[in-house]
Amino acid sequence: MKSATRIPASEHGINPREIDKKARSILHALTKAGYEAYLVGGGVRDLMLGYHPKDFDIATSATPEQVKQVLPSTRIIGRRFRLAHVHFGREYFEVATFRAPHDKTGRGKTSEHGQIIHDNVYGTVVEDAFRRDFSINAFFYDLETGDVLDFVGAMADLKIKQLRIIGDPEVRYREDPVRMLRAIRFAAKLGLTIEPASEAPIRQFASLLDNIAPARLFDEALKIFHGGKAIRTLELLRDYHLFECLFPAAERGLQEDAIESGGDGSFRELVYAALKNTDNRIRKDLPVTPAFLFAVMLWKRVREDAKAYQQEGNPALQSVHLAASDAFSEQVKCLSVPRRFSNMTREIWTLQGLFKFKNQRRVLNFLEQRRFRAAYDFMCLRAKSGETSFDDCEWWTLIQEVDMDEKIAMCQRVTPGKAKKKRKTRQKRRISE
Ligand code: ATP
Ligand code: MG
Repeated sequence: MKSATRIPASEHGINPREIDKKARSILHALTKAGYEAYLVGGGVRDLMLGYHPKDFDIATSATPEQVKQVLPSTRIIGRRFRLAHVHFGREYFEVATFRAPHDKTGRGKTSEHGQIIHDNVYGTVVEDAFRRDFSINAFFYDLETGDVLDFVGAMADLKIKQLRIIGDPEVRYREDPVRMLRAIRFAAKLGLTIEPASEAPIRQFASLLDNIAPARLFDEALKIFHGGKAIRTLELLRDYHLFECLFPAAERGLQEDAIESGGDGSFRELVYAALKNTDNRIRKDLPVTPAFLFAVMLWKRVREDAKAYQQEGNPALQSVHLAASDAFSEQVKCLSVPRRFSNMTREIWTLQGLFKFKNQRRVLNFLEQRRFRAAYDFMCLRAKSGETSFDDCEWWTLIQEVDMDEKIAMCQRVTPGKAKKKRKTRQKRRISE
């Protein structure tokens, strides 16, 4: 199907006022200058499905240099694949020149696994539609006429809420295995079913993700777990054997922890409680940090390994650090973890040992710590999952809420006088109950 079906506003229902004003001004400027320009990708898809888009991307026949001539606030980014970012102060919109399929001129190259490694060939709007991943991501909204252009039969998929990959699924997943993760993400986020032919190769092809740069998988993992539908996505990822490519230690942990395998289910509880919490925070527009995701996903492994290190005679804190280093070195082979997040994750873990100390000096210091809140949230999740005492969670919740006199009184009620202090000598210190 090479000619476009024009879908009028009466059918697609997009109200142009729902499109960001600045994005509209870019579309107007480019068309006025004689170029083709459309709103594309997730922005159009989300509007057609009745969601509020998170960003508005534009595709055009103008090259990045031509975009800059029309819109001087443009910055051209990327060396291998050049993109125009049209700036409005710190905010910017991505304006991409139509791209052709990578094999059109032989300039786009694929690796021995069939993966695209160069993808910088400009093309026509039709070519640009066919190189996109899923049909519903290939709608082109024409602001001037109000029509949506559909080159790939996407409207039929949208009507039955189906996610269909464009072209031969095996070829398209080989070209870019990340499309498998995207399929799961869109299915979970938008409540779509994956068309049978599009889902068929996924389990078998899952290991192709091993060939993807860890930094790209980090970005994808964040979109997946911070997209507001983390639990549903996790279940689909596990079902399609994709989760183990992102978080191998967590997948092993979930398998060992399953009641059928003789586990107590507490790790599953922890992961689910954490993801539910993340989904709630996203819904309320509260900040979320990747450090917390890693703290949760790697916890079972870290806790067990730290115990083993301690049994070998290492001090408690050092045992956590040793276990953390082991866990991160396995993790970064799959997806990379920027140092600022892994450092914070380590802090969340090492602080877990402090919740058992209730004497006034330590408590007041701890409450002032930069990472107290993250460590506390994590400890409460552990309590919820049954791994540690819920009393601790309640005690630490309360002490944050009361005034200083009551804080001191609370500590004194738990550790009256100094009698107990002496008992500390050279006892084995446990890092976690
Ligand atoms: P989101 O809501 O997550 O932003 P999106 O569909 O806009 O969803 P982007 O990653 O912003 O996703 O990509 C914009 C568009 O670029 C997609 O809609 C799709 O048409 C195309 N695209 C993105 N990644 C790929 C890919 N790996 N293969 C082919 N086309 C892609
Ligand atoms: Mg997008």
